[in-house]
Amino acid sequence: MTVQIAPQSLAVNISKPMDPYWAEITEIQPEAPDVATYWMRFENQAVRKGFTFQPGQFNMLYVPGVGEAAISISSDPKETEHIGHTVRAVGNVTNHFTHLKVGDRVGVRGPFGTYWPLEEFKGSDIIISTGGIGFPPLRPVIYHVMRHRSDYGRVVLLYGARTPRDLQYTGEYDHWRKNGIETMITVDRSDESWTGTVGVVPILFYRLRMDPHKSVIFTCGPEIMIRFVVFEAMARRVPPSRIFVSLERNMKCGLGFCGHCQLGPFFVCKDGPIFSFEALQPYYNVEEL
Ligand SMILES: Cc1cc2nc3c(=O)[nH]c(=O)nc-3n(C[C@H](O)[C@H](O)[C@H](O)COP(=O)(O)OP(=O)(O)OC[C@H]3O[C@@H](n4cnc5c(N)ncnc54)[C@H](O)[C@@H]3O)c2cc1C
Repeated sequence: MTVQIAPQSLAVNISKPMDPYWAEITEIQPEAPDVATYWMRFENQAVRKGFTFQPGQFNMLYVPGVGEAAISISSDPKETEHIGHTVRAVGNVTNHFTHLKVGDRVGVRGPFGTYWPLEEFKGSDIIISTGGIGFPPLRPVIYHVMRHRSDYGRVVLLYGARTPRDLQYTGEYDHWRKNGIETMITVDRSDESWTGTVGVVPILFYRLRMDPHKSVIFTCGPEIMIRFVVFEAMARRVPPSRIFVSLERNMKCGLGFCGHCQLGPFFVCKDGPIFSFEALQPYYNVEEL
């Protein structure tokens, strides 16, 4: 199965695709050390009203005078008056996010990229498997399935972070559980506050009884985690055509022009970031690709 590319919504200026639209930061929600969700609202009313996105898509966010970074949209696809991006401060642009305040402006181009195939897999069990900063592009999936709960079978979240302090969106787990999302959490290293599972994300598969032919796997996170999630899923006979991976590659233009994010025959910005493992498999274990 190929993943779909969304019809373009209004935040990409079609005649000048490298020009961002401006958005004002309306709230900053700390999530974990070095991680916060930045809520923003487009200044241009037509853009605000016309902006739509699909779960798994990303925007190029521009910090004036610094540069752009690809950041997934982590909020509810049905609530686009304010859109959320969860950012981990790791480098040039993302470190500057930590200096931004409510009322500051950022440039937004997007939404870009393929999205999780939720329509195609209606009726299936959805297994979301994620770790670290791989969670933001999957949180919109949770909002979507909660809104359309009867369209899906079981919905299971397998999520892990390095320590309990690094867990994101902690205030929402109870709500998700009450709304039919089986939420299983693990941490690599516990502390005195933690009474849950300790270990890496793939071990959660050992606690999960699943029907491999009814399940579809959505995964995003550190590359090593993705490899083991794919391994565990395939060991349970989930076909590669039912495993979907979101990849992060260094990205510049977001439009398939510059080639920074090339992976074999694919541009991650344009052909991805979400790929079926069936399409990715020939290129995935090739060194230096
Ligand atoms: C589709 C997609 C979605 C994404 N979604 C998110 C998201 O939701 N949230 C999020 O936080 N991130 C996300 N990312 C990742 C984010 O785009 C990258 O981390 C991006 O590089 C950050 O830009 P930056 O300028 O802050 O970092 P950069 O300055 O580009 O640095 C990025 C990394 O490279 C390292 N680095 C920088 N310079 C050097 C050097 N000279 N030598 C060696 N290493 C170096 C940094 O330490 C850091 O680990 C996403 C990426 C993609 C492709």
